[in-house]
Amino acid sequence: MPLEDKEFDMLSDERFMQDALKEAWRAAGKGEVPVGAVIVKDGRVIARGHNLRERLGDPTAHAEMLAMRDAALVVGGWRLNGCTLYVTMEPCPMCAGAAIQGRLDRIVYGAPDPKAGAAGSCVDILSLDCFNHKVAVTGGVLSEKCAFVVREFFRKLRAGEPEQNRGPGKLPEGGCHAGPDLI
Ligand SMILES: [Zn+2]
Repeated sequence: MPLEDKEFDMLSDERFMQDALKEAWRAAGKGEVPVGAVIVKDGRVIARGHNLRERLGDPTAHAEMLAMRDAALVVGGWRLNGCTLYVTMEPCPMCAGAAIQGRLDRIVYGAPDPKAGAAGSCVDILSLDCFNHKVAVTGGVLSEKCAFVVREFFRKLRAGEPEQNRGPGKLPEGGCHAGPDLI
């Protein structure tokens, strides 16, 4: 029996979220708060990113921002119509704003972020009708796995695991993508 469209979408959302999760684990390996993102166009991943805020010393170096910059290079311009951003944590206001500016079609996120989420947890930028572009949102895809990577990261940090097991980055202090419920 053929899969219903909805079931097919769910399966492909989970598949691409797995890719975003791989990026999150890469961030963890560098001592960064583990958030990962990929951008998908026409059914394939065209860009990836993971949080590099500590390593780059850049407050804008969130996974989503790096993935969107990468995607813009791939498509040859800032207009990211037709693209879907998969990210392991609910995007913050900066990243949600950038997605609107970049005219992405859709954001799919994993775990909610009550401390910084801009898709309804903290504020709901993405549901506002006043902007000239609206990004569709789906939340909660593989949310347990996406929250687990963050929880595990902070558990190891607290346990004082040797730094080489976490990666070479400085100790992050939680913040944007690390709500207390996840730590
Ligand atoms: Zn962000």
